[in-house]
Amino acid sequence: MNVVSLPTLSRVALCGGTHGNELSGIYLVRERLRRREKGAEAEPFALVTVMSNPRAVQQCRRYTETDLNRCFTEATLSTPVSDGTPYEILRARELNALLGPKGSPEAVDLVCDLHNTTANMGLCFISYSDCDWICLHIYRHLQREMATIPVRYVHFDLPIGEAYSLESVGKHGFAMEVGPQSHAVVRSNVYMAMKEGVQLMLDWIRLFNSGSISFEGGPVELYTKVKTIDYPRDSESHHISAAIHPELQDRDFCLLHPGDPVFLTFSGETLRYRGKEPLYPFFVNEGAYYEKGIALSLARRRRLSIPSIQSERR
Ligand SMILES: [Zn+2]
Repeated sequence: MNVVSLPTLSRVALCGGTHGNELSGIYLVRERLRRREKGAEAEPFALVTVMSNPRAVQQCRRYTETDLNRCFTEATLSTPVSDGTPYEILRARELNALLGPKGSPEAVDLVCDLHNTTANMGLCFISYSDCDWICLHIYRHLQREMATIPVRYVHFDLPIGEAYSLESVGKHGFAMEVGPQSHAVVRSNVYMAMKEGVQLMLDWIRLFNSGSISFEGGPVELYTKVKTIDYPRDSESHHISAAIHPELQDRDFCLLHPGDPVFLTFSGETLRYRGKEPLYPFFVNEGAYYEKGIALSLARRRRLSIPSIQSERR
């Protein structure tokens, strides 16, 4: 069987606090920064640990002026700065200078950005690529090793220039989204799952970089985002007029069929899924997405085969 040779991952970034109220990643990054000050745990590769949005973290809010994790498109990163430029756009430029520049040979090899969701998504990789063998092999490793939480891979099918989130700055990158956890709250089970996921990722990178083994390819399953659905809204006030239906709540990644309940209106009427194709819901009732007009996202499940890989010896 053919083995694909890939460069070692010599510079890796672990980021948390991109959203200032997603506490698992924030405490995990703080913990790692504190231990590093004490001189513990030198990695055999350069690991940059970053608190992405310190101002929002301090205020325990998602962001202060605009959502930092929507600021990493090529268009936003190249817009001229003025006195009125929001803090998060300035911060995105700093992070792009530190970890990128996006799309350049100087960019870090891998960005892992830690997030929490209020949705019942377990541990979810979110990536812009369905052919990034590094991300997909790390995903497979976590899926095999983690017993306490389901591990899935969501693919956002966007060209890299339009990719808007922090992980798109690295040569490889993914968001590690863990939930359910309310924003501004930390739950020990969610924190520990994220910590285990990060540890397994670092273990995999060490082994990969050592060049001592090849990682066997095979089938993987991923979810490609197809569309989002907004809440029903009052045509004049634009207030939402329904909540997620109890039969859909917490059922992320359970197949939604045409005719299945989606919303329960505040007057008690059940609204059903009117799509023609059964799809997989995720980010169901995500707290941060009310302002974005997203009640849930829908994905198509696909299976693909990834090749065996090995790191290039230098
Ligand atoms: Zn987030």
